[in-house]
Amino acid sequence: MPIKKPYEIDIYQFDGEFTKNAPLGKRSWFRCGGNADILFEPDSQDDLALFLKYYPADEPLTVLGSMANVIVRDGGVRGCVIQLGKPFAEIQVMGAKILAGAGALNGSVAAAAAKAGIGGLEFLSGIPGTIGGALRMNAGAYGTEVKDVLIGAMALARDGGFLPLMPEDMKMSYRRCDLQEEAIFIGAVFQGKIEDKAEVKKRLKEIKAMRRKTQPISEKTGGSTFANPSLEVLKKAGLDKGTKAWQLVERAGGRELQIGGARMSDKHLNFMINTGKATATDLENLGDELIKRVLDDSGVELQWEIRRIGEKL
Ligand SMILES: Cc1cc2nc3c(=O)[nH]c(=O)nc-3n(C[C@H](O)[C@H](O)[C@H](O)COP(=O)(O)OP(=O)(O)OC[C@H]3O[C@@H](n4cnc5c(N)ncnc54)[C@H](O)[C@@H]3O)c2cc1C
Repeated sequence: MPIKKPYEIDIYQFDGEFTKNAPLGKRSWFRCGGNADILFEPDSQDDLALFLKYYPADEPLTVLGSMANVIVRDGGVRGCVIQLGKPFAEIQVMGAKILAGAGALNGSVAAAAAKAGIGGLEFLSGIPGTIGGALRMNAGAYGTEVKDVLIGAMALARDGGFLPLMPEDMKMSYRRCDLQEEAIFIGAVFQGKIEDKAEVKKRLKEIKAMRRKTQPISEKTGGSTFANPSLEVLKKAGLDKGTKAWQLVERAGGRELQIGGARMSDKHLNFMINTGKATATDLENLGDELIKRVLDDSGVELQWEIRRIGEKL
């Protein structure tokens, strides 16, 4: 007899919410894309662990935070998508350390640190998203990355088992964390330093103002489309070591290119935007076309930083 999926067994044994054929793309920052077969929003760590324990190992599983870094393809996402929200958003101040749940928003963590006079976590205020997404992406801004302030993290393995993690277990590098793809972060502890509250709050304000000035934060976007090329790649292509992805996009004519409703932002040429009616296909085609053009123009093969999930139509 085939093993039943948990939501076929008895969804009422879980406290969290299940939605079939959930309009996932609409939840993303790009506000487009397909549906999830099943969306599960667990109510607690135990709820999530129980679900994982029963969810068949060969069924597709995707975990998401606030969806600030994903394109949901128009064909939708098979299997179950887990989205961590408020029940995982606890933030606790412990001296100069901050414990944050994976569903806590980066901005709320930065604000809680500032309120307690803890410096060093202000960079988080410039990065939309949750702590879970920030851990997975080793998110960073203004010279600091998550790995620089991380003391440890907690995750659940695919089978629901608890994984206490030290930074060295996670092998974090530029916008990467090498923890098994299906493990789900549930929280982390960050190290800050006790500082003058007013100073920390001032830096927080400066970061917010800088973001407004340099990034299209009120657009439907997903942050940096491409990772900045490594020094090695730039050297091989004979380019200056400080060359950024946006400069390569500009050189290759990316400012003028529009596919359907997708184009690059005038404010920041590495930020792709949905101008109104873009499909996920438009967005992905624009990114792929830019990768081709940049390769022809400068010999650098840009790599997507935005995660693309689900199936093409
Ligand atoms: C306007 C704008 C500005 C941005 N600026 C920056 C910036 O300066 N620096 C920067 O680094 N990023 C930036 N980004 C990108 C984005 O904010 C980060 O990548 C952020 O960490 C994504 O978090 P999220 O919760 O939205 O994750 P999602 O987009 O939902 O997911 C991103 C990835 O993380 C995984 N993930 C999410 N939650 C978990 C979890 N609990 N456990 C395991 N895996 C998980 C997902 O599977 C996916 O692979 C920007 C985005 C926008 C829209």
